Amino acid sequence: MSEDILTTPSNPASAGATVYLVGAGPGDADLLTLKGARLLSQADIVIFDRLVSEEVLALINEGAEKIYAGKGRNMHSIAQSEINETLCKLAETHKTIVRLKGGDPFTFGRGGEEALYLVARGVNVEVVPGITSAAAAGAELGLPLTHRGLATSVRYVTGTCRKGDELDLNWQSLADPDTTLIIYMGLANIEAIAQNLMAAGLSGRTPAVAVESATTQTEKIFRGTLETLAAGVRAASFAPPTLFIIGKVVNVAAELEALNPGQD
Ligand code: SAH
Repeated sequence: MSEDILTTPSNPASAGATVYLVGAGPGDADLLTLKGARLLSQADIVIFDRLVSEEVLALINEGAEKIYAGKGRNMHSIAQSEINETLCKLAETHKTIVRLKGGDPFTFGRGGEEALYLVARGVNVEVVPGITSAAAAGAELGLPLTHRGLATSVRYVTGTCRKGDELDLNWQSLADPDTTLIIYMGLANIEAIAQNLMAAGLSGRTPAVAVESATTQTEKIFRGTLETLAAGVRAASFAPPTLFIIGKVVNVAAELEALNPGQD
């Protein structure tokens, strides 16, 4: 049993209910945790996001209600505030509520906002981690995110910003040749991201890779350099979800491939 560190059972309306914030992993259902799979088999209701794969959704028990909280046909997402309220309300009528999110719920997943909202209202919350897309993409491509002599640290960076705003990142600190940069949600802004990194001193020859839908049937990869990255993904019409990995570790993939040809 894990500890319910986020529990404040002070709301009688939701007593006995727990909202599980579960990481669905990157797509391949084999990469879901055993705990996540067990909760999907026991859930009364599951609220899931756009990034959760069909393969993982297929593990939800037949009796459970399913609510889709991603973008609809009109391309408007349900507002975060609405999701928070819905989760809170469901805790009054259901016992095992699973909030299923792509990757890891606490890595650019807004899981923190949901947990804070619920705990403040006396709802029990438990977080079940998932394999974040950075770890999945690294494994898939055969590139270690850290590697002795090549990268002493990894940074997870968001490449998105509010509509109309400039990307507000500390480019100087990001332009570190000894760090592996992982850019989440960066596809729309990859030109600006690459330009800013180069302007801040990161070499255009730094190896870089883009991965769309890592670990799924539709996985797509572009290998290049910081200089060629943006043009490469446009030419190949990359679509979300796409992750970028920038840094010297990208070259390890080719080294591994050369030592182990034919290994998929
Ligand atoms: N919580 C998620 C991240 C959500 S933000 C996680 O831990 O992975 C959404 C971004 O995640 C996407 O824009 C993309 O950059 C990345 N992403 C999520 N799943 C992905 C996948 N299967 N392949 C490539 N990138 C992915």
